Formats: sequence, structure tokens, C-alpha cells
Amino acid sequence: MSAERWGKGREMELNGVHLLLTYACNLECDHCFTWGSPRNRGTMALQGVQEILRQAQALGSVKWIYFEGGEPFLYYPLLARGVELAADLGFKVGIVTNTYWATTADDARLWLEPLAGKMSDLSLSTDLFHGEETYSPEARRALEAARELGIPTELLMICEAGEHARADVGQLPGDESAVMHRGRAADKLVHGKALHVWHGFGDCPHEDLRQPGRVHVDPLGHVHICQGISLGNVFEDGLVAVSRRYNPDTHPVIGPLVDGGPAELARRYEVPCGEGYVDACHLCYRVREGLRERFPNVLTPDQMYGVLPAC
Ligand code: SF4
Repeated sequence: MSAERWGKGREMELNGVHLLLTYACNLECDHCFTWGSPRNRGTMALQGVQEILRQAQALGSVKWIYFEGGEPFLYYPLLARGVELAADLGFKVGIVTNTYWATTADDARLWLEPLAGKMSDLSLSTDLFHGEETYSPEARRALEAARELGIPTELLMICEAGEHARADVGQLPGDESAVMHRGRAADKLVHGKALHVWHGFGDCPHEDLRQPGRVHVDPLGHVHICQGISLGNVFEDGLVAVSRRYNPDTHPVIGPLVDGGPAELARRYEVPCGEGYVDACHLCYRVREGLRERFPNVLTPDQMYGVLPAC
């Protein structure tokens, strides 16, 4: 879909660009937004990383670069070079990892030492979706090594909705956060939960769709405002053009979401919603699945919708 059809842009003021270095992951967690899996495909090349960093710099407003996945440590030399390049350009640099690599205290230090002095955040995913313990031995070792090396850390813990879960956070929460039922969670984690009628989900509770502060860029170049909603492609359009033309009110998917959440998205395009839904993201994800053929360049790529290669 051309930029013209979305009308005149209002320009995003992006503070962060999050590179999904790869869709591959050593794990296959039930709650994963991005369908991370050993079977998922797509990894950035060094040239792509360099290009995205150059474009992020050209925006002028970006302070943070994050490397995420999938599991970014699976492509360690690329990750290490990306961190170095981003730090050299003056960005604050963060990584999100499941810490699988911290097999001993010495190994944890071995993997982190080359990154020390270049990073401003190491976010460690550890919870019962990622392993057998809420706070895994690998995460403890990674945390300890990072502290010794002076790398700031944060724990990312996702729990099932309950008293301790915060539901009002995005990608980088400060403590335990609730599952959002999008991506694989919309398939794996909805059974047996209380369902609510679709027309009650009248807003998007997690993303600032009007003024997004950060976007995720995947290995194919798609710029995601929320996982699976692409605003354009860095390798075809460029981040600057994507940012300049952004207009939430005229965007075919964001417009309805801004007007009335996932319920309005369903209403606007007459997507049948017979069943109940666990939360807004569950409805949003299901409605978007139903609209993929209509908006193939926006509701993309297959990787974000669980269309993975067969084993
Ligand atoms: S409601 Fe939709 S756009 Fe908002 S966070 Fe959930 S899945 Fe993303």
C-alpha cells in the first residue's frame, strides 16, 4: 500500500529502535509474541544491521538501540559487532536474552566480557515460560557476571495474569508482567481462561499507537508498531520515510485501533467475532489474522503469524 493512500504524515518521534536480530530461538515459549523457535526463519545480515543503524542515526531522535529476537545470542559474532557499531554511533545499547548461554559463572563472563563498556542495559528473560524456575540458574549467573562487568541489568518476568502481574507495560517491563495473548500465546494460553465479548475491547491497552516511542525492525526489514503490524520496510522505504509518512488516523489498521481498539478493527472490516476473547490482544490478533489477505503488506510477515516451516 502506498504512502499516498495513508494521507499526509505526522512523523513519529522515535526514541528507540529494536532490532529483531533473528526469529530463531533455542526455546519455543508458549507466551512468545514473535513465535520464536528453532524452526522459525530469518536472521539479519551484518549489512542489514549497519543499514538500520545508519537510518536510526539519520532520524535524529533515536537514543536507544535494542537487540532482541528470537534469541540474539544465537548469532553472537553478529550481535557483538552490532553492539559495537551502535555504541560507536553514540546510541545507548540494550539486549534482551533468555540467558541460555550462561552455563557456568566463567562462561557467563566469557560471553559478556566483549560487550562490557558498550551496553546500557541487559534485559534477562526468566520465568516459568522459559524454564523450570522463575529465576533460573542461567539468569542468576548472567546477572552476577553483568554486575561484575558493570553492565546494567533488568529482569523480565512474565507470569499468568493475577495479583502480581502488571498488565500496563510494553516490551520492557520493570518487574513481573502479565501475558498478553498475541502471537503464540493466542494459540497456547487461552484455553480454560475467562472469555469476554468482543465489543468490550474498545482500546489498545499496551501500545501508544498515536505517538509510538519505539518500533521493532525484523530481519526482513519490516517496521513493526506492534508485532505483526508493519508500517513499511527499512530496505525498501527507509526508516526516515516510514517515520515521516506515519499517520495513525489514515492507516488502514492503526486507524480503527486508535478509534476504538480491536473491537473497531473487527467492526470496520466486518470480521465475524463469534467467540469470546481473553484480552484485547487476543481479539486484535485473531481479527488481524482474518485480515491478512486484505492487507498483505501491513499484516506481515508469516513469521509473526506462526506460519513456520514444517519440521
Ligand atoms: S491490542 Fe493489538 S495493537 Fe494493541 S498491543 Fe494488543 S495486539 Fe498490539
